Amino acid sequence: MSIQSNLQEIKSAISPHVKLVAISKTHPVDIIMEAYNSGQRVFGENKVQEMVSKHEVMPKDIEWHLVGHLQSNKVKYIAPFVSLIHSVDSLKLLTVIDKEAEKVGRVIDCLLQIHIAMEETKFGLSSEELDELLSNQEFKQLKNVRIVGFMGMATFTDNVEHIRREFKFLKDLFKNIKERHFFRNDYFRELSMGMSSDYTVAIEEGSTMVRAGSSIFGVRDYSLK
Ligand SMILES: *Cc1c(COP(=O)(O)O)cnc(C)c1O
Repeated sequence: MSIQSNLQEIKSAISPHVKLVAISKTHPVDIIMEAYNSGQRVFGENKVQEMVSKHEVMPKDIEWHLVGHLQSNKVKYIAPFVSLIHSVDSLKLLTVIDKEAEKVGRVIDCLLQIHIAMEETKFGLSSEELDELLSNQEFKQLKNVRIVGFMGMATFTDNVEHIRREFKFLKDLFKNIKERHFFRNDYFRELSMGMSSDYTVAIEEGSTMVRAGSSIFGVRDYSLK
């Protein structure tokens, strides 16, 4: 299957209101350009350096999303151009993003990454940590970041009902937090959930953004790096 037909297949499976973020990590520019030439404009990377080098050489109408764990000392490299950071998991990181955004005269959209999987290894805030962050006075003073929603990664399992429960949990949390902290803010509306293996379940549970890599570009070969 070609990249173009893979994209068409996913687009026809998701509603037009759901944004498709093509996760292009590990893939070279010429392959990513095939997706671009098929009309795709939103791409996601999980490493800062890789995203910066691709941004430099690729067309400037691309929306770049950072989906991987972000280290504070690397924020400055993406602050001038990043469209959305999906993986904010601490007030410290958010404060650094705010500072770097201010330096370049921007307001950077961010998602708070919530821990929804059983696995210990996945990053993200617990509900308690989320409450703490949102009620922190320091958070309320940040002017150059905008929290537009949540991101979550479900457990890697074949058990669809298990995955569904985790996505439902995130959606419920989203509704609850929207009422308590963002009820007047229309921009708080994104739920980034669903990858190649589970995006259909994620959409059924209210996802507004799916992050698909291998179902567009094929399996990743990390040995090339
Ligand atoms: C790699 C990655 C994806 C895409 O994974 P696929 O299974 O290839 O669709 C989505 N989200 C994050 C955070 C990733 O790191």
